[in-house]
Amino acid sequence: MAYLARRVHWKVTFLGHTRHMASTGLSPAIRIHDVRKVYPSPDGGTVTALELDALEIGQGEAVALVGPSGSGKTTLLHVLAGITPVSSGEVWIGGDAVHLLPEPARDRLRGRQIGIVFQTFNLLGAFSALENVLIAMSMAGNRQTDPRRHATDLLARVGLGDRLGHRPNQLSSGQQQRVAIARALANGPSVVLADEPTAHVDETSASAVLDLLQSECADRGATLVVSTHDPSVRARFSRVVSLSRPGVPSN
Ligand code: ADP
Repeated sequence: MAYLARRVHWKVTFLGHTRHMASTGLSPAIRIHDVRKVYPSPDGGTVTALELDALEIGQGEAVALVGPSGSGKTTLLHVLAGITPVSSGEVWIGGDAVHLLPEPARDRLRGRQIGIVFQTFNLLGAFSALENVLIAMSMAGNRQTDPRRHATDLLARVGLGDRLGHRPNQLSSGQQQRVAIARALANGPSVVLADEPTAHVDETSASAVLDLLQSECADRGATLVVSTHDPSVRARFSRVVSLSRPGVPSN
């Protein structure tokens, strides 16, 4: 009851849309303020890849990120993951100011707190499903007492208990994406980011991939952000964040 009593409703204005959100009193899992990412262009000018005034996503919230091609969805996910540094503005993951961290510290933060699922899986082709998960754990300095058991359990949870020794080219696309999800969950992330995770899997597997992402994140209380241009994926989320192309007003 005390927990519920602490909940207050407040407003977040995001790209001109006003949303009512329930605050738990905890700091948001993700907070963006006045972020710009600008790249040099080959003609000597610049390209603005991302412009976002404000975004807050609560702990445990699940959000679809939509917008036309070129609106900066991938850039935003990479900025949140600390892969891409911003040109200006603030990016917070929980209490960590990502925009102030040098690259090695961003890498450590990503290893500790963030799981990423890519469109094209990005599995290591020379290694088995089990090894792909174990390598991600080792790179993040994961201190599981029995890493092999942990990775095996995760792969069993995503339905691949009988495919531990298979390499990516011996797996279907849906199975590869499930390995990628197990890998993304391996270090107990508080935030899971998925960039068009169903773009390269068939329709049946797409539904299984999303079920898995949503249920695993809900079970763990992890925040989930899924970029998509697919209306059926978007329809699965009660909150949708829309990006518009930089310089183009949102409607
Ligand atoms: P989306 O995922 O919504 O399709 P992206 O984040 O991939 O959009 O790209 C947003 C814009 O930024 C595009 O116009 C793209 O060409 C540009 N962009 C992305 N990455 C780079 C880069 N490394 N160098 C120059 N321009 C880039």
